[in-house]
Amino acid sequence: MPQLDFRSRRLFVDAALAEGQTVALERSQGNYLGNVLRLGAGDSVLVFNGRDGEWRASIEGRKRVDSLTILAQARPQDRLPDLAYVFAPLKHARLDYMVQKAVEMGASTLQPVLTRFTQVSRVNGERMRANVIEAAEQCGILSLAEVAEPVTLDRYLAAREAQRLLVFCDEATEVADPFRALQGERREAGIDVLVGPEGGFAEEERAILLRQERTLRLSLGPRILRADTAGVAALALVQAALGDWIGSGPDR
Ligand code: SAH
Repeated sequence: MPQLDFRSRRLFVDAALAEGQTVALERSQGNYLGNVLRLGAGDSVLVFNGRDGEWRASIEGRKRVDSLTILAQARPQDRLPDLAYVFAPLKHARLDYMVQKAVEMGASTLQPVLTRFTQVSRVNGERMRANVIEAAEQCGILSLAEVAEPVTLDRYLAAREAQRLLVFCDEATEVADPFRALQGERREAGIDVLVGPEGGFAEEERAILLRQERTLRLSLGPRILRADTAGVAALALVQAALGDWIGSGPDR
């Protein structure tokens, strides 16, 4: 498999990518390449759009960087595992962090759910998408995670496919070997990892979650973790036991 070139700058663009194509850059992107990174005409970067793989491109523009010429494909398009990160949204900086980390961990969908003790009622989808792009640019990820609209926990549960595995991160369950518990599960129908708000889940929510067809109640050890930490820990366990840390993950 072609390796990621970590030395090159990577840029997300929305345009279709193919050899010989010219892609106009947004002013902020041109400014970033020209004035922040001090790159100029003839320098090369890597670009991706989430659909056409990764391409080497050369920078164009006389006075300022304004476009790219697409040269050759560096890596073909791949797919993320069918792994949704389902979470009660947090406030600003912690939400930024959580979104970036979930993308780095390879989540393919980010689904905010509003629970009884969720403190945030409005979620800035644009900001979440910007964080998805930034994390993907930095980490060599070729497919952008989908950012879903926030829904209440009830509506989320009513709409989800029941045969998917629901990994319910629950600090109230007994500490047991989480890795082994995950290894005993099937991944084919897709996986949802659920982490609650800082205030935790209400008892009636816990009861509903445990009644779902395929719930795995997971302990992340004897300490209470902040929600953003719990997300990273749970996604790492899932990727290592069932996901793409051991080869290709569950198919989308
Ligand atoms: N109810 C707790 C805090 C919740 S922590 C309290 O207020 O005391 C936020 C979320 O992180 C939880 O809803 C759970 O999904 C996850 N979490 C934190 N620590 C965990 C642990 N040790 N095991 C499993 N999940 C955990």
